[in-house]
Amino acid sequence: MTINKKKAAEQKKPIGRVPIAGCRCHCGYEWAYQGTTRPEHCPKCKSWDWDKPQGPKSPDLAS
Ligand SMILES: [Zn+2]
Repeated sequence: MTINKKKAAEQKKPIGRVPIAGCRCHCGYEWAYQGTTRPEHCPKCKSWDWDKPQGPKSPDLAS
């Protein structure tokens, strides 16, 4: 009579609004991203360094 345990576990996740993983670019754009690797670039401004602050000067990051 307790065969329903599996289903109970499946229904444990709450429905409704949930915080999902995402990214925010230095340009201010945010997008949902649930991959395990770092997105290559910002979908909006196409910046490859979207996850790095864009200061007026970045001597350490000079390529
Ligand atoms: Zn951007």
